[in-house]
Amino acid sequence: MQFRDLKKQYEVLKEDIDKAMLDVAASSAYISGPQVKELEKELAEYVGVKHCISCANGTDALTLALMAWGVKPGDAVFVPDFTFFSSAEVVSFEGATPVFVDVDADTFNMDPEDLERKIEETIKAGILTPKAIITVDLFGLPANYPAIRAIADRHGLPILEDSAQGFGGAIEGQRDCSFGDIATTSFFPAKPLGCYGDGGACFTDNDEWAALMDSYRVHGKGTFKYDNVRIGMNSRLDTLQAAILQVKLKAFADYELVDVNKAAVEYTKRLDGVVETPVMPHGFYSSWAPYTIKLADKQQRDGLQAHLKEAGIPSMVYYPIPMHKETAYKDMNVKDSSCPVATHLCDVVLSLPMHPYITVEQIDEICKEVKKYLGK
Ligand SMILES: *Cc1c(COP(=O)(O)O)cnc(C)c1O
Repeated sequence: MQFRDLKKQYEVLKEDIDKAMLDVAASSAYISGPQVKELEKELAEYVGVKHCISCANGTDALTLALMAWGVKPGDAVFVPDFTFFSSAEVVSFEGATPVFVDVDADTFNMDPEDLERKIEETIKAGILTPKAIITVDLFGLPANYPAIRAIADRHGLPILEDSAQGFGGAIEGQRDCSFGDIATTSFFPAKPLGCYGDGGACFTDNDEWAALMDSYRVHGKGTFKYDNVRIGMNSRLDTLQAAILQVKLKAFADYELVDVNKAAVEYTKRLDGVVETPVMPHGFYSSWAPYTIKLADKQQRDGLQAHLKEAGIPSMVYYPIPMHKETAYKDMNVKDSSCPVATHLCDVVLSLPMHPYITVEQIDEICKEVKKYLGK
């Protein structure tokens, strides 16, 4: 069994993907081929924003956004404590300081109350200037945008939506990657919409930021390639990846997103009352990057993972270490009591195999093993 069965997906889409790849090979437009612009248009339309700026990966996408906003040393950027390292790394990369915000125990996403508290503490300390909020749509579920937007507005802070895992999610029909003033996603193969290597994109309705990110991704280009008006980076999406993504976006929109949601229902039907299953706030829709359950404690979680492994079922701990405890951030001396929920979640979460091609029989088998281990 695969945690995320990308081979199965390729088998299903093989004919179209092979043709798309061979077309690029024959065209020789390996960089900035027409597929890149086409894909950007398709992505912007799907998400419902004005601009999509593709780039080399999801980490660069976040960096491009922070560059467009001129985030610099002395700035504080508020980041959830329970996320992939990139969400905070990009802040430090600009010389600014990530301020870790605790998460909600049910949704795993940024806790609006703690966000407000951390902003006020930062203002009171008077050392750093609050500059932006990075929300993360963890495991495919949009963050609590109604609450977070109100706080952001109150403090005049823009929201950067890290939707590396959230593409396809929605709140009341409004799609993920449209909630932030700038939103970003990743096309790393295992993400909800993945390519065959690295890739990423930024989304925004703001013309000025879109133009800046477009410039920064190609060496700070001005009116043409050898007119360099600012210091930028080399962060383009390959034509080959764009062509593959065109095929995969169609499958994603046609049936994959629906199927992965059906799989989540099947999981929850079997595991409800056995373990803590994912909580879906009213009106929220997830793209189920993984399906993540909570166990009673670390011992039970680690025991279940070992038991599943024994039974040939892969599972993952997303994430074993809260951001504030990562070695790279240990000098900040953030106490566990500053983010108690994130610290606890790292001990009890377990992500189970999840993808649009998982079968009910496979879900059955996984859930049987979970129940067997827990004696239920
Ligand atoms: C994967 C991921 C990223 C980084 O994306 P890459 O394409 O691997 O650079 C950033 N944030 C989150 C939450 C992620 O899961």
